[in-house]
Amino acid sequence: MRTHTADFDLVVVGGGLAGVSAAIAAARLGRRVALINNRPVLGGNSSSEVRVWVCGATAHGNQRWARENGIIGELYLENQYRNPDGNPVHWDDVVLDAVRAESNITLLLNTDVRDVVATGPEGARHIVSVTGWTMGAETETVLRAPLFLDGTGDGLIGHLAGARARLGKEARDEFDEDWAPDEAERTFLGSTLLFYTKDVGHPVRFVAPDSAKAIRDTPIPSSRIIRSGDSGAHYWWIEWGGELDIVHDNERIRDELRSVILGIWDHIKNSGEFDAETLDLEWIGNVPGKREYRRLVGDYTLHQRDIIEQTRFDDGVAFGGWSIDLHPTEGMYSTGAGAVQRFSNGVFEIPYRSLYSADVDNLLMAGRDVSATHIAFGAARVMATCAAMGEAAGTAAALALTYGTSPRGVYESHRAELRQLLLRQDAPLIGVADADPADLALTARVSASGVRDGLGPHPSAPSAPHPLAHDIGIVVPVHPHLDGIELLVASETDTELEVEVHSTGLAQNVVPERLEHRVTVPVSAGDARWVSAPVRWQPEIPANAVIVVRARPGVTLFTTDDLPPGILTLVHTSDAEDQNVHVSLDELLVQWPTKPLRGRSIVFRSTAPSEALAPERAVGGYQRPFGGPNAWASRPLAEEPAWLRLDWDEPVRAREIVLVLDDDPDVELNTLHHHRDPHLVMPSLVRDYRVEVQTADGAWHTVAEVVDNRRRRRAHPIVPELGAVTAARVAITATNGSPEARVVAFRVQE
Ligand SMILES: Cc1cc2nc3c(=O)[nH]c(=O)nc-3n(C[C@H](O)[C@H](O)[C@H](O)COP(=O)(O)OP(=O)(O)OC[C@H]3O[C@@H](n4cnc5c(N)ncnc54)[C@H](O)[C@@H]3O)c2cc1C
Repeated sequence: MRTHTADFDLVVVGGGLAGVSAAIAAARLGRRVALINNRPVLGGNSSSEVRVWVCGATAHGNQRWARENGIIGELYLENQYRNPDGNPVHWDDVVLDAVRAESNITLLLNTDVRDVVATGPEGARHIVSVTGWTMGAETETVLRAPLFLDGTGDGLIGHLAGARARLGKEARDEFDEDWAPDEAERTFLGSTLLFYTKDVGHPVRFVAPDSAKAIRDTPIPSSRIIRSGDSGAHYWWIEWGGELDIVHDNERIRDELRSVILGIWDHIKNSGEFDAETLDLEWIGNVPGKREYRRLVGDYTLHQRDIIEQTRFDDGVAFGGWSIDLHPTEGMYSTGAGAVQRFSNGVFEIPYRSLYSADVDNLLMAGRDVSATHIAFGAARVMATCAAMGEAAGTAAALALTYGTSPRGVYESHRAELRQLLLRQDAPLIGVADADPADLALTARVSASGVRDGLGPHPSAPSAPHPLAHDIGIVVPVHPHLDGIELLVASETDTELEVEVHSTGLAQNVVPERLEHRVTVPVSAGDARWVSAPVRWQPEIPANAVIVVRARPGVTLFTTDDLPPGILTLVHTSDAEDQNVHVSLDELLVQWPTKPLRGRSIVFRSTAPSEALAPERAVGGYQRPFGGPNAWASRPLAEEPAWLRLDWDEPVRAREIVLVLDDDPDVELNTLHHHRDPHLVMPSLVRDYRVEVQTADGAWHTVAEVVDNRRRRRAHPIVPELGAVTAARVAITATNGSPEARVVAFRVQE
């Protein structure tokens, strides 16, 4: 056996997506990080050992423009490129490569942390070291650092260090949560094993092993939807252990779950009720995916109202969009729905105070360990949200080290800087505008080759008729005012169209919340022609509006797949798709889904000039849709070359140019086989471009020439020898598909 001691700036325990993102974030900011995982592959529940597909704020396409950017965004894009079929084995390597790319990370796989040395009185503990045992290598490593991060999912490091934790469900009164039980309960979301099947192309039999459960003797066949072709996370509802102790009873829970999988497979193969003759079992998980255990107590406890009412925090450092997704304690043996879900009307924020321990002064946490109630945890627990928390916590750790302060000290004295640092790194956070004193672009004049004409789809784009059977919502950015809209309309009879403009409530929301103006427009019988609807609205600040066209029998609108930047289409209908889930229909988000016409635009023209896609939108913005697209869009590249330029009155000394390019956050990407997006690279991403700077002598110097780009954030260092510059520009010659170039942020960092 070997024993050694190693020193780091930050020790991250747990290699799920929270821990991975935290480690990468801190490493990119120059910190020496140890990342320790007690299993041989990274990714936690998303790994090929468990195979839960990574969901996040898009919530399977329910939320709008909500896909995360940042580190998890990079992983999504890379996985889409390498692994569009969602093979879990390839996903493992996407995650591993991202970690291995950071030379500041020391990765210890197969290393289980069981010992924590901490000092100090209760409520003011301090971790000195953690000790890991590397299986198969007979090696014990003592890891010391000024800061530690618990990404174990079970809150084990915090627990061993003496941090307070929440277990189970809070009583309703504690946080005024109407979805909470009257009395606190020590019951949990259960754990799950998944399985994969394959069609072997010839008849194959299944002889059930002795341990297979007779599932006909359980409520499962009558209360859960079983389909022979389903695999993996489709079977999320094979869940059990909520009434036990999720951690201490882990072995018992695994055995029960495995017996039920074998019983379900026996039912599928041998009951005669399924078309499954050529199907075989390919894989059964053996590591139970844990949903819930300890939630460490931070300086803030995220709770139900923060999700549903979308609380704005001055320390908001991440966002989520999944529904509050609660499961019955009995899990798969419950006779009710496998889950009840309630959405917020847009993404919700996670405050930084939920990401460090209230009791251990050098401990951060992220992912399942977040400081939240059981109810809020129901929304925050999906993995892209866990990764967003991890990126925020890892970034905060780096900042704490810069200032020689504690995680709490970052909140007390540096939270605004933390948010700016996250934005600079293009981390996923919402509603934070670039006010980075080190971004020289903020003091420059912005100009561009041109701006995309109008807000509607290109007039020559092919269109298809869409009978106005349901109310339609057209989401448009209003900047500075809306002065009417023209719709392509056909009608069987002389009739009227009711057209309304609604504001959306919070800037991140994309739902028709409040009626602002309504008009009734006569429409005569006839083929397609432009009909003008003079709906007007002038918001106090630029905002999205939803133009609602009320359903009218005999009237037809037209749709096209030429979906312009900043535009979405809502349909007033219900589209519940998972029969194992009961979704609350009270929320506008659910009543007005985008899914039925995802990727399509109603054919319309706007009559007022708009600043929504002007070059200035690429500087000092929110770096993602928030009350508007927050991006510059050029005229079609086929019509003229596109460039975006910054000029300074006085020369400036710049270190690097950072471009953030539009990767279409409305598209849901999923790591495993949930659905297949046809694009290996997001079509909206700029592909080929050149970055140049101008020196005081008037000469232009190439900083970077890029071809085949498929990433969202690109940083291009400027060689110091160039000295001060008076202008910078990016010239774009190709995208990955969209007709126009789109730039979300053009930053010049000193
Ligand atoms: C069946 C199931 C279905 C779900 N459905 C979805 C879904 O569809 N989409 C979605 O996004 N989320 C889903 N979730 C939730 C999601 O998987 C978890 O909330 C998420 O994995 C939490 O991420 P994490 O990084 O905090 O923890 P985990 O993914 O649990 O990762 C923790 C890591 O830490 C390691 N570790 C633990 N203890 C130690 C230790 N002592 N020493 C070293 N390493 C340690 C573990 O091995 C693991 O690798 C589901 C969960 C389950 C179980």
